[in-house]
Amino acid sequence: MSNEYDVVVIGSGPAGYVAAIRCAQLGFKTACIEKWLNKADKTVFGGTCLNVGCIPSKALLDSSHKYMDAQNHFEAHGISVGKVEVDVPAMIARKDKVVDQLTSGIKGLFTANKVDGVAGIGRVTGSNKVVVTNKDGQQQELVAKHIIIAAGSVPIDIPPTPVDHETIVDSTGALEFQEVPKRLGVIGAGVIGLELGSVWARLGAKVTVLEAMDDFLPLVDRQIAKESMKILTKQGLEIKMGSRVSGSKLAGKGAKKTVTVEYTDKDGEQTETFDKLIVAVGRRPFTDSLLDESVGVEKDERGFVKVNDQCATNIASIYAVGDVVRGPMLAHKGMEEGVMVAERLADKKTQVNYDLVPSVVYTHPEIAWIGKNEEELKAVGIETNIGVFPFVASGRALAADDADGMVKLIADAKTDRILGCHIVGASAADLLQQIVIAMEFSASAEDIGLTMFSHPALSEAVHEAALAANGHAIHIGNRKRRK
Ligand code: FAD
Ligand code: NAD
Repeated sequence: MSNEYDVVVIGSGPAGYVAAIRCAQLGFKTACIEKWLNKADKTVFGGTCLNVGCIPSKALLDSSHKYMDAQNHFEAHGISVGKVEVDVPAMIARKDKVVDQLTSGIKGLFTANKVDGVAGIGRVTGSNKVVVTNKDGQQQELVAKHIIIAAGSVPIDIPPTPVDHETIVDSTGALEFQEVPKRLGVIGAGVIGLELGSVWARLGAKVTVLEAMDDFLPLVDRQIAKESMKILTKQGLEIKMGSRVSGSKLAGKGAKKTVTVEYTDKDGEQTETFDKLIVAVGRRPFTDSLLDESVGVEKDERGFVKVNDQCATNIASIYAVGDVVRGPMLAHKGMEEGVMVAERLADKKTQVNYDLVPSVVYTHPEIAWIGKNEEELKAVGIETNIGVFPFVASGRALAADDADGMVKLIADAKTDRILGCHIVGASAADLLQQIVIAMEFSASAEDIGLTMFSHPALSEAVHEAALAANGHAIHIGNRKRRK
């Protein structure tokens, strides 16, 4: 393998592996460096997303949802299954198998696309040079016309609750419990806290989520956030808002080990004892020992590699994509950035539309949103027409006995152009995608209203919300009836 490349990508998470594959498809000689070692000490591709993020968390969300369904909802359908039990090690092993299948899949895609997967830690030592150190300490230098940094992110640690990987864990540890903790504490009611808190609550843990902020899911439309809070609380998650964690004490030994968390809320100082504690207070860009100072790649005050809208850094030959740069830390955002950089290197004019990055919290029901919410639009004085359709009025949702939540669609009152869509409900992620596409085409609420939707389908709720925005939904009473 010659050490000269058109493109060297550092990191094989969704931003890096997609960038590498697209570069190779476009005819560039490409290498992708990865340092991740699995439990068997083997290099694996796929980054946070495939190894300890999106995929394993969804595997456990899906398994625990099936368990909860069997336990609580089968009877209503006339199905009796006797005593439903959970085998946690088997559940974790299935999750690991899914991860193995997908990380091997990336290796296969690299081979098929002629991307050289290089094992080791990459360090940018010049504007066209990367030194790779493998696990045995051997080094090789790769020379590249272009370098794409896709080094991702890692969990943030907070001093009051240092992670010991046993009683106090981060998101990675929370995917590995071998039994259901009786009392589980979660710090942070963000995406990870709600998703992984839900997994263990469904399996029987008493889950308490401590959140420093007063507003639940502050980026989400208030009506949708309020409804989501109501549903998740009904499911047994105890979410304590305005609770700022100040310290923790470990006690006991072995299986009897506990952690007592100290926090302050509106009533003063509080303590609560847990068998396990998950710290989920956000992630930080990972640039540790990645860049030689002499190269001069600029970072911002929070450690993100500084890039423009096309993901170019201040050094002409170096780009950066994914969690290591500004913007939401989401796999799909990183993937599109990877494609954009590859295509721009091939002189195409590809541009990521940063106004339309969909967000999803994969609880059940899912919470999904795109575009602006009601409060943001009010704040800038834009007049809107808002259509809300509850799933309880959807025939398909009722047939499935899965009718919590609603679709809220917001259109500009003057032009009828769709400005945002906010959903809490079963399959919200997939339902939302219809509106993401519509918004990419600058659709109006009327365009969606005039589109034929299959019956019976959950997406009829999206159709009806669009009709409701103009005052003529068919299957609910309209607040503002219009002709
Ligand atoms: P990463 O996936 O972090 O990949 C970076 C890679 O670079 C890693 O493999 C790392 O080992 C490697 N690397 C770093 N430095 C070097 C170096 N110097 N040399 C060689 N290799 C290096 N996002 C979603 O969109 N949907 C979800 O459902 C979702 N669920 C999540 C659940 C959890 C529990 C977590 C933790 C995250 C989740 N995310 C989700 C976020 C998502 O995982 C990240 O946004 C995404 O992985 C970022 O991709 P990336 O390629 O930028 O970085
Ligand atoms: P987050 O930013 O979503 O939530 C962290 C929460 O912790 C915030 O609500 C914050 O107010 C709270 N917090 C911070 N310090 C605290 C303290 N001392 N005490 C109590 N609360 C505190 O971060 P996360 O949940 O760790 O997720 C990290 C990233 O991973 C997110 O940016 C997200 O985009 C990504 N992710 C995405 C998905 C998804 O797309 N479904 C799933 C998981 C993770």
